[in-house]
Amino acid sequence: MDARDRLRRYLEQRREMGESEFALDSMSVEEALRVIGQGPGAGGRGSATVTPTQGPREKPRAVEEAPASADWREALRAAGSAPEPPRRAEAPTPAEPVVAAQPTPVEDPRAATPSAGAPSELPPGIVVPKPAALGLSEIESLPSLDAIAEMVKKCTRCPLHQTAIQGVPGEGNPNARFVCVGEAPGATEDETGRPFVGAAGQLLTKILAAINLRREDVFICNVIKHRPPGNRNPLPNEIAACSPYLVRQLELIRPSVILALGTFAAQTLLETKESIGKLRGRVHRYHGIPLVVTYHPAALLRNPSWKRPTWDDVQLARRILDSSPAAGA
Ligand code: SF4
Repeated sequence: MDARDRLRRYLEQRREMGESEFALDSMSVEEALRVIGQGPGAGGRGSATVTPTQGPREKPRAVEEAPASADWREALRAAGSAPEPPRRAEAPTPAEPVVAAQPTPVEDPRAATPSAGAPSELPPGIVVPKPAALGLSEIESLPSLDAIAEMVKKCTRCPLHQTAIQGVPGEGNPNARFVCVGEAPGATEDETGRPFVGAAGQLLTKILAAINLRREDVFICNVIKHRPPGNRNPLPNEIAACSPYLVRQLELIRPSVILALGTFAAQTLLETKESIGKLRGRVHRYHGIPLVVTYHPAALLRNPSWKRPTWDDVQLARRILDSSPAAGA
């Protein structure tokens, strides 16, 4: 498969996920497809929805003249689009230009305006307001993350404690400005009592390192604190019983950014059934805290082609972190 085929496959995946922006290289999907002769002839960044092309596709002159390359970015550059060189190995820094937040007209009353650090052209996100009274009984008044961890160890609020080895409350910096929220512990986490320590956890550690964050800088936890048997999806009564722990953890930490890992965490926190494809690429607000959605690291292990959009997501989260007024990592 040559560079053009790889690029076409990548762009078509993005389009199937309902995305039109090609944020990393400052090109729209439509522009990039046009460069390689796969898209409609007109349109540019932020323009009308991309529609699949029909019939035989004519090979564009620009691409014919492009030298073969193992890197699709090279193919694009050679085709005349000249995007910026890839920055995968670079961690965004506070010195990077940040587009100022702009009010965006929205139809959904729960939609958020872009946060500081978020490009203003991003679609508006969902706002989950903090309820006036949380109604979380004893969990609501737990004074610290340690107290939450102690309560999780003894918790019997749902049947999951009967089949799991132990609770996995979460771990990390109690003053973290960056919090990662996943779905539920897996087998390795159940054995160790620590979140994200299996293969997916090792990938998460690498993803964090790519944006200059160490595991000990952040707080990592799951929506559900005991492992569902056989890694099945948590049930609604289990989510309802366990969510107060996460609510209290986030309330105590008050991070600058939440990174929701995977569909389950994103849909639970944002109280929505929207697909992850629609939730990505936006800055939501959870109880006033900016929230970015990305794929779960376990999904990346199954589908490496999602690493690229995940990189876009974590860079967005990093920009929000860098633009946050709070000091520290
Ligand atoms: S999963 Fe949550 S609610 Fe259920 S027993 Fe464990 S800590 Fe309690």
